[in-house]
Amino acid sequence: MAIVSTLGMTAPALAADDFSGHDKLKAHSEEFRKRVVEVTEGVYTAIGYSASNVTLIQAEGGSIIVDTSANPVDAKAIVEAFGDRMAHPVRAIIYTHNHPDHTGGATIFAGDDKPEIYSHKLLVTAKPDTGRGRRDGGDAFGTALPDDQFINAGTQLEYGRVTPHTREGFLPPTQTLDGEEESLAIAGVPLQLILTPGEADENISVWLPDREVLIAGDVFLKSFPNIAPLRGLPTRPADKWVASLDKLIALNAEHVVPGHMSTLAGVEEVKDALTAYRDGIKFVYDKTMEGISKGKTPDELVQEVKLPARLAQHPYLQEYYGTVAWAVRGIYSQNAGWFGGNPTHIFPLTDRERAEKVVALAGGKEKMLEGAEASLSAGEFQWAAEQADYILVMEPQNSEATKAKVRALRGLGQRQMNATARNYYLTVARSLEKGLQASDSK
Ligand SMILES: [Zn+2]
Repeated sequence: MAIVSTLGMTAPALAADDFSGHDKLKAHSEEFRKRVVEVTEGVYTAIGYSASNVTLIQAEGGSIIVDTSANPVDAKAIVEAFGDRMAHPVRAIIYTHNHPDHTGGATIFAGDDKPEIYSHKLLVTAKPDTGRGRRDGGDAFGTALPDDQFINAGTQLEYGRVTPHTREGFLPPTQTLDGEEESLAIAGVPLQLILTPGEADENISVWLPDREVLIAGDVFLKSFPNIAPLRGLPTRPADKWVASLDKLIALNAEHVVPGHMSTLAGVEEVKDALTAYRDGIKFVYDKTMEGISKGKTPDELVQEVKLPARLAQHPYLQEYYGTVAWAVRGIYSQNAGWFGGNPTHIFPLTDRERAEKVVALAGGKEKMLEGAEASLSAGEFQWAAEQADYILVMEPQNSEATKAKVRALRGLGQRQMNATARNYYLTVARSLEKGLQASDSK
């Protein structure tokens, strides 16, 4: 036992009695409270009715809509919430980007009005997210979690729970922006469409110079950005993201409407938040690239690259959706490939070979299981999960190891501030537990 514990001497990421992350994530749900906000005269944003925000711009002889929510059901609720403020005809719809939670309700806003549909040209060719097959039911959005286990999905409250994202209400663009930016007037409203890649390559931000309103899409959210998501997507380009934020900072906006969560007002507040967001991404990108050039491994960089206090404490860089650690790993692999530089890792042992040898060193499966139990009691949930995995690689049906893993994943999930990690831990725990129950009842 002592040997096993010594092997696990790295400090657990989260102390067993520390639920502050959980509490912060819970408080973050306030961002998704249902309401229509008057951003400034003639500009209204519906927050919390769907996964993403929908903005109404009052125009000459009608309305302009920026983003359309996740599906026709949500879109109908938003039309109702806008009420008389949304005059017909709807003259134009603008998609900030391709994601289905922003493009799924267009038919409802359009009705019979036949509006022009604007987007960047890249939206037309954008490939839908591939995602990864759901190993053991893992789901970063928590779609299948029961209500008492679900808190939120980081940028949204209800993904897939009440109203799934569908392409049912999508209308294809009729007007596409080709280059970096374009100034135009739609229904008497001067606006600028600015290509601002980050979370999506085709993301455009909408700038209303007369009203000093910036509708940013998902290039700016109230969380550390999800540069390298858990759910199986290519890493988003951090350097381009920084350049996009430079463009947005230069606008000196008075109001910002992000793709999700609360709007922000005040030139100084806006500048502070956009600058912190840019600086946070830039810091992680620069430090990771510097580490790569010095031959550091991804694991070393995850330990070393930490935001300085000013940024770490900033409300727009809390790790509800993305994390610094995953960004480091994503930026590393995107720029330096999969190999971290240690020759041991060129052709490593298979998981099974390693498990057999480590379990033998530990004194056999029973000892390893005792070790996992001891780790659970000590609140070392990560090490407990790894110990259980050694056994499960050898014996996937081992019910004691599965039970230990379920407890370990719950221990990790319940303490997480990151919504996508929490959701992933808890959905896998649930699916493993269901598997146990199914085999018990045979
Ligand atoms: Zn979004």
